[in-house]
Amino acid sequence: MILIDGKKEAAKLREELKQEVLGLKNNFKKVPGLTVILIGEMAPSQIYVRNKEKSAREVGLKSEVIKYPESIEEKIVLEKIKELNKDDTVSGILVQLPLPKHIDKQKVIETISPHKDVDGLHPMNVGNLSSGYQGSIPCTPLGCYLLIKNVEPNLSGKKAVMIGRSNLNGKAMAQLLLQEDCTVTITHSKTKNLKAECLAADIIVAAVGITELVKGDWVKKDAIVIDVGINKTEKGIVGDVAFDEVSKVAKALTPVPGGVGPMTIACLLKNTIECFKRTQK
Ligand code: NAP
Repeated sequence: MILIDGKKEAAKLREELKQEVLGLKNNFKKVPGLTVILIGEMAPSQIYVRNKEKSAREVGLKSEVIKYPESIEEKIVLEKIKELNKDDTVSGILVQLPLPKHIDKQKVIETISPHKDVDGLHPMNVGNLSSGYQGSIPCTPLGCYLLIKNVEPNLSGKKAVMIGRSNLNGKAMAQLLLQEDCTVTITHSKTKNLKAECLAADIIVAAVGITELVKGDWVKKDAIVIDVGINKTEKGIVGDVAFDEVSKVAKALTPVPGGVGPMTIACLLKNTIECFKRTQK
């Protein structure tokens, strides 16, 4: 079984991006900039943002974090986003989710310029992805896609099953695999026989948030299994896939932690660089 080492792949990608930033600096005399807006004190969000900032600096991006208290008014956040939209030194804007209840997530997403939407959640980028046009692709599915392609460069005709249909994960992942000529099934909480769907799959991407939902006898021999889930348990952080069981049947599998997570951050940096390049053209 191939244990997909997300840490190693992400480090490789960051190194490539670092070289690319050096080239851009030479050409344009400036570097791409990433601005992250962090609202509130939620511990996981604080950790994610710290990691994003550290990685951005490591590859040579200009990186800035704007912090607001939990009680910040929505209109102040929206005004700040509009200001950043006009700022030429800012290539990418990310508002760390989840947001406090009084702030409308969709309004925030749609206020970010689609040209600076490094999360790929703006409806214009969602449309671009489903139409096969250029635009930002959500970081986690992009990371999963790169990991899958690394194991299996030719995906044509493969049957892929997404577990979960969020905009952030399942739907975008499905579009990427459809573009690779996979036959894609998107499953969700109302799916009748999830085990049977999974057993038919050459590729399974689980993005649900249920500890070890995907069991060993749900997986066809030699399937590629990508575990996006992050679940806090007494054993520590665990994915949506029962790792020990599935590792006995799968051709390739991502661990949790150390699989998809590091690729998500590397792809955020990649998206920031792509946004910068598109505006320089
Ligand atoms: P989400 O928005 O809550 O979506 C979960 C999806 O799972 C929904 O579509 C839901 O179906 C589906 N679902 C729930 N129960 C199910 C079941 N029993 N069988 C099949 N599908 C079921 O979650 P998300 O934001 O996509 O995140 C999913 C997981 O990935 C979470 O654990 C999250 O922490 C993790 N995550 C990891 C990364 C990373 O970088 N590694 C990044 C983002 C998220 P319905 O639509 O019918 O409700």
